[in-house]
Amino acid sequence: MNRILIMGPPGAGKGTQAVEIAAHFGIPAVSTGAIFRSNVEDGTALGDAARRYMDAGEYVPDEVTNAMLRDRLGRRDCAGGFLLDGYPRTLAQVAELDEILAGADACLDAVVSLRVDAEELIARLVRRAQIENRADDTEDVVRRRQQVYAEETAPLLAEYAARGLHVTVDGSGTVHKVSARVLEALGVRT
Ligand code: AMP
Repeated sequence: MNRILIMGPPGAGKGTQAVEIAAHFGIPAVSTGAIFRSNVEDGTALGDAARRYMDAGEYVPDEVTNAMLRDRLGRRDCAGGFLLDGYPRTLAQVAELDEILAGADACLDAVVSLRVDAEELIARLVRRAQIENRADDTEDVVRRRQQVYAEETAPLLAEYAARGLHVTVDGSGTVHKVSARVLEALGVRT
């Protein structure tokens, strides 16, 4: 298991689980959201290109996101595998990832999606807004991000299910409980 995607709506706990699961397999967790946020903080050209979309809860355009991801996966630490958190999010990104993997003669091992009920998602995001002070955790933007996920990203699950790669995991409960469920779904005995 060394090329894994983790998916799920905003607030499902992808980022936290990505770090846990990547550490288990000894691969880097690559979070497109975290890369965008650090570029915004550093005031880079990429950050400037991404910021207004992020603040509005919209997706950063595919051309920008795909170029950034291609560059990141081309670095040496990703040669032996990676866990992607927050990418792909559109069908165009699925196609880009397929092309990157084909170019490296590699393929995906699994796509895990975390399922958390809607009420719990909103409660988590409101809590996170207080702790992290993220510009995209205001109520309107949180709602927009859920809507964009449902419209643009949820359909990707069917695509990966058709490829026999998709597993759904219950994302409720403690970090430890959820990561144990994810590892079990990936066939690891804990
Ligand atoms: P996240 O931390 O994964 O929730 O991402 C935060 C924000 O970064 C998203 O709401 C998008 O604006 C942007 N973003 C992250 N990953 C992607 C992606 N794969 N495609 C487009 N936008 C993205």
